Amino acid sequence: MLLKKKDIIEKSYDVIIVGSGLAGMTAANKLAKNGRSVLLLEAHNKLGGFATWFRRQQGDHTFDVSLHGFPVGMIKTCKKYWNREIAAKIHQLPEVRFINPQFEVSTTFTKEDFSKILVEKFGQTTETVKAFFDELANMNFYDDDRMTNGELFQKFFPDRSDITRFLLEPIVYANGSNLEDPAISYGIVFSNFMSKGVYIFQGGTDTMINMMKEELLSNNVDIKMHTKIEKVILDKGRAIGVEVDGKPVYGNSVLSNANLKTTIDKMVGRENFSPDYMAEADKVRLNTSSCQVYMGIKKGESIPRVGDLVFYSEDKEFSTDLLLSPKVGSQTFSIYYPDTRPHLPDDHYAVVSSSNARWEDWANLSDEEYKNRKKEVIDRALECLEKVIPGVREKIDYVDCATPRTVKRYTHHEKGASFGTKFEGLPVSQNLHKEIPGLFHAGSVGIIMSGWLGAANYGVIQSHEIDNYIDKLNKDESTNKDYHAN
Ligand SMILES: Cc1cc2nc3c(=O)[nH]c(=O)nc-3n(C[C@H](O)[C@H](O)[C@H](O)COP(=O)(O)OP(=O)(O)OC[C@H]3O[C@@H](n4cnc5c(N)ncnc54)[C@H](O)[C@@H]3O)c2cc1C
Repeated sequence: MLLKKKDIIEKSYDVIIVGSGLAGMTAANKLAKNGRSVLLLEAHNKLGGFATWFRRQQGDHTFDVSLHGFPVGMIKTCKKYWNREIAAKIHQLPEVRFINPQFEVSTTFTKEDFSKILVEKFGQTTETVKAFFDELANMNFYDDDRMTNGELFQKFFPDRSDITRFLLEPIVYANGSNLEDPAISYGIVFSNFMSKGVYIFQGGTDTMINMMKEELLSNNVDIKMHTKIEKVILDKGRAIGVEVDGKPVYGNSVLSNANLKTTIDKMVGRENFSPDYMAEADKVRLNTSSCQVYMGIKKGESIPRVGDLVFYSEDKEFSTDLLLSPKVGSQTFSIYYPDTRPHLPDDHYAVVSSSNARWEDWANLSDEEYKNRKKEVIDRALECLEKVIPGVREKIDYVDCATPRTVKRYTHHEKGASFGTKFEGLPVSQNLHKEIPGLFHAGSVGIIMSGWLGAANYGVIQSHEIDNYIDKLNKDESTNKDYHAN
């Protein structure tokens, strides 16, 4: 049932889920399909979290915020944990391009194509390329291998900054990884992406989230939006519900899809955790944020096909540090042709430029400085796009820029972190319920559990933990009843 903002919740639930990102929604659907009673609470006025879109009347545009590409595995996840109709709308992007001073490459973004390019364009032997891919394939998350991304590239392609750029740049955009991050985080994401190319959801994010909402409602999930949760209620160290508008709502378990650090520090409170756990939690670094420039093409105008995802850079050398700086000359253009939303009566074209960004570079600007910096980002995007699609400037009738501040405002992620936490966030997230029984976390953590696929899959993993926990609670309860009856 879709609850209204003013509705008071008197029922209690098996599971209360705070946040409707892809992890929260997927966990909600899986648990509801398993017969659990589920309440999904969302602060915003729509579901999806980062998997979102917005409309602008001016020029009649719809923009996708995070629909740039995800791995093929999303098809299987949607088929298994959502439905076949949703899975059937996932399509491969035909062309990914790299344009930078070191090289220009066009690829289908598959392992085969990357191997071919590494041999034919970058002059590597087939043996080296095979050994590199084998090393990635054999990486095991549970191995305590401390190799960094930088060391991995140096091992196989020593002093080849062009190859490092070719291999790492897409992943930096995908999850904010850098050369110092553990190679495992890169290896798993890269292997995922490289198996069969890059995919998107045809129909746009709005279509997907609306289909998911229908599926949730058909599985009897209660959904309440406009509801920001400030507090998880504990009883003798166990999570037993949340406070909704100052009133308690009870549940056997709570799953937080809010940022991990917000969950620990604000919704639960540090004093409720053991010193050892807090020591680990305090080491968790938030991931970086991003800027996006949304450009809408006038109705009736068109642009030629120049690729679907274009990694564009004017920086001579590749540097992950530079990719985060406001001075960056790199950005990714996602180009949306009419086949992104084939159901619309008119042809719609849009371009979104994405660049990684640091909260610190945006947080303390005055209003004037903020306006000016946004303008710089917009001007840079327009200038560079003009080089990819000459004449495009004249065709654009809407342009605006989102910054780390925008990300924070809409998703409540501290520092506008767009990919949750760095690697070390994963064990802290996984161990939350060992500290506070009944309280679980699912959402972008540890790089490999972020992105559309990572978040959705992490929701599934945590839903298994919740199922086990509720089974155990029910068993303990019936044992207690039997004990008292006897
Ligand atoms: C600009 C950008 C581009 C991206 N591009 C891609 C891409 O191309 N491909 C890809 O795979 N991934 C991409 N991502 C990443 C991907 O979108 C996210 O990793 C994923 O959607 C995160 O899902 P999540 O479940 O962690 O939750 P989130 O999306 O973070 O959602 C959490 C939800 O919880 C709600 N919430 C938080 N606190 C509370 C509270 N206290 N009470 C109630 N509700 C609360 C928030 O409002 C939000 O709706 C991108 C991200 C960004 C920012």
